[in-house]
Amino acid sequence: MAKQVIIEEFGGPRNMKLVDVVVGEPGPGEIRIRHEAIGLNYIDTYHRSGLYPMELPHGLGMEAAGVIEAVGAGVTHLKVGMRAAYAANPPGAYATERVMPAAQVVPLPDDINFEVAAAAMLQGMTVEYLFHRTTPLTAGDTVLFHAAAGGVGLIACQWAKSEGIRLIGTAGTDEKCHEVLANGATHCINYKDVDFVAKVKKLTEGKGVDVVMDGVGKDTFFGSLDCLKPLGMMISFGNASGNVEPFGLHELASRGSLKVTRPTLFTHIADHDACMAIANHVFDKIRSGAVQIHIDQRFPLDAVAEAHRLLEARMTTGSTILLP
Ligand code: NDP
Repeated sequence: MAKQVIIEEFGGPRNMKLVDVVVGEPGPGEIRIRHEAIGLNYIDTYHRSGLYPMELPHGLGMEAAGVIEAVGAGVTHLKVGMRAAYAANPPGAYATERVMPAAQVVPLPDDINFEVAAAAMLQGMTVEYLFHRTTPLTAGDTVLFHAAAGGVGLIACQWAKSEGIRLIGTAGTDEKCHEVLANGATHCINYKDVDFVAKVKKLTEGKGVDVVMDGVGKDTFFGSLDCLKPLGMMISFGNASGNVEPFGLHELASRGSLKVTRPTLFTHIADHDACMAIANHVFDKIRSGAVQIHIDQRFPLDAVAEAHRLLEARMTTGSTILLP
């Protein structure tokens, strides 16, 4: 019988339960996929805690790689027996197998293994849209990237380097900063010990950066605005420290006509062709060697609570996968 992690109430990691489930046949536009590896992402903790509410009981997990076992009517890009991977709604990827909509499930090239795909789909496609589809960025531009030793972060460091973009990272320990630098960042600021705003000003000779990519949220948002050049772009794409407090638009005017956006991956990949293009761009970056996926933590599926605990305690680096 198939196994799936569900929650019946929002709360801490212990609320997750591994249960037996009957997985049916796919309906029109759906597929059934058997998972070989599952990606763990910070968004999973928001679903678990209720920060991003959903109807309960519900499965968790947005990303996995595996083999297509059945294909519903109207699905033409996937066939039974194909290797495939996805980052997609609805949550439910923490499972040995599942039925789900096919539109965001992409064929997996032979030279990308299941573990790398499970680790790279959500975080890699996020980096792709941040660097190519959110604001114009060209070689020589400077980006401040918070939590640069994390899953999205280590991919961003390497991606920036491969595009000639100067990335100043932040991270919570000196050890994490070493990893950030080893992955291509030009500088890394330990923002637990050092005032990152003052340091960014110093590193940019008082000018500030062109773009901030901020997945930390509440704790860094206003400091991030202070790091921008006039006309700079604030990309607030996550809330690991909590939601950004509401603020007045004058905060943008007084700092020099700043721009701000709050994007999500799921808008960018809603269209099937766009999803395929973004995924293939990520596979190309991995294949070329420009981006190496760091799977720094692996857990069996039944140890998912420990995986969440470590992620929220800031004790992970790079990507984390669950093995069914
Ligand atoms: P990470 O591996 O980056 O883990 C989160 C990191 O955030 C921690 O390791 C920690 O790094 C840092 N952090 C800072 N403050 C806190 C805090 N109070 N509690 C916990 N962590 C904190 O996670 P992901 O790579 O999965 O995701 C990174 C961010 O990007 C998340 O906010 C996520 O929601 C967001 N995201 C958004 C997407 C979108 O499309 N909008 C898509 C994918 C991810 P340190 O100790 O170095 O500070």
